[in-house]
Amino acid sequence: MKVRVRLAPSPTGTLHLGTARTALFNWLFAKKEGGTFLLRIEDTDLERSKEEYIKNIYDGLQWLGINWDESPTIQSERVNEHKQIIKTLIDKGFAYKCYASEAELDEMRETQKKNGLAPKYDNRHRNLTSEQEAEFITAGREPVIRFKISDQKLISWNDLIRGKMTWSGKDLGGDMVIARRAPAESIGDPLYNLVVVADDSAMQISHVIRGEDHLSNTAKQILLYEALDLNIPVFAHTPLILNSEGKKLSKRDGVTSISEFKKMGYTSEAMANYMTLLGWSVPEGINERFKISEISKIFSFKKVNKASAKFDWDKLNWLNSQVIHEMSAETLLENLDPLFKEKEWHIPSHEWGINLVGLIGPSMVLINDGVDQAKPFFEEPELSDDGKKQLEIKEATVILKFILEKLGDRDAASFSKEKALDLINQATKRCEVKKGLVMKSLRAALFGTLNGPDLIQSWILLSRFSKDRARISRLI
Ligand code: GLU
Repeated sequence: MKVRVRLAPSPTGTLHLGTARTALFNWLFAKKEGGTFLLRIEDTDLERSKEEYIKNIYDGLQWLGINWDESPTIQSERVNEHKQIIKTLIDKGFAYKCYASEAELDEMRETQKKNGLAPKYDNRHRNLTSEQEAEFITAGREPVIRFKISDQKLISWNDLIRGKMTWSGKDLGGDMVIARRAPAESIGDPLYNLVVVADDSAMQISHVIRGEDHLSNTAKQILLYEALDLNIPVFAHTPLILNSEGKKLSKRDGVTSISEFKKMGYTSEAMANYMTLLGWSVPEGINERFKISEISKIFSFKKVNKASAKFDWDKLNWLNSQVIHEMSAETLLENLDPLFKEKEWHIPSHEWGINLVGLIGPSMVLINDGVDQAKPFFEEPELSDDGKKQLEIKEATVILKFILEKLGDRDAASFSKEKALDLINQATKRCEVKKGLVMKSLRAALFGTLNGPDLIQSWILLSRFSKDRARISRLI
């Protein structure tokens, strides 16, 4: 079987983590099987669908390295085909017009509830006579179109992740609405289950891989495939992603869209790596830190869990720091450059920039950490509490005065590690203090705090703008 899979996002919001993970599993499977990965934009909800969301979805997928193979199918452009299929279903007796009003349906559900039953359409208009229909039409009623679902029907499929699945027709809510209300002589807007079957079939999709929240839809869709005498694809339902409290990850958990993760400073490589781990178990002998291109050679649904996956920030952060630490200084600088530009921070030379990222890179977890850590090199830092305390020690002023004097005739361009160390040693001797006190006082004066990367290297970088002199003199 030629493998053709698809992602079918609705552009009613930005690319969600769960949708991106579904995209990734589709893509990995397609790559592994030498198949085709397609995109279908499910924009039939014209009011909620937006161009900007389509762009956000395309951008997010591309950023993650999930590229699609053919130009995307736009669902709303196929509405005539969808209506034609509905017509066929009516003609063959698989579907019918239901004139029940919303008020009648509400009342029906109320009665069911009162009797302790689950609300379900009672198929009341399945067998209307033509006289009854004519009466409803004369009364000005507009029908929906419903697809017949027999209570007795058992629907089964072999799910690639969940194994044999069986649903009973009686659990599917009665005859299903496949087109919205519209005047009786026309066909209203076709609805989700119908259009998905129509499109998956037209796109010759061999495997439908999507979240487990679609399980009951799959049962309904299989009935449509059967009625239309179409090939039924293979199904794989991926586990849900849960928050730390074990509830389905939702907007309330804060960051859920791929563009937000990007904005926070997560790398596409760590995101793609982490999302693969959300549901897929790493086979023995394979490290948890990987590139998706490597996994696309070994991906299989046998290793996808049925159990839900818990979102784990610590693991994502760990992976992101790994990716950053593995980056060359060139790449890290390329990543930081636009963020520095946003702040209007100018790097005096490429070499200086490379040295800066070499210094701050090892303690970065997020790309954006680089901005916080680079800040004191570009902007005068405020004194933190520990920095202030350090500078209140009476020897601190003497030390700084001595260093400042020595910096008076210093040539900034040739200031080196040796010269910096020599200056520190001289200050230690002359002021008769411990070297640690000199180092701490100098750090507090230059960077405002006692924490930070290697002091000598940081000092050298700062000296290139002669900022060291300015910062010490402001305190004396
Ligand atoms: N538009 C649907 C969704 O975003 C697609 C589901 C499917 O893959 O069939 O959930």
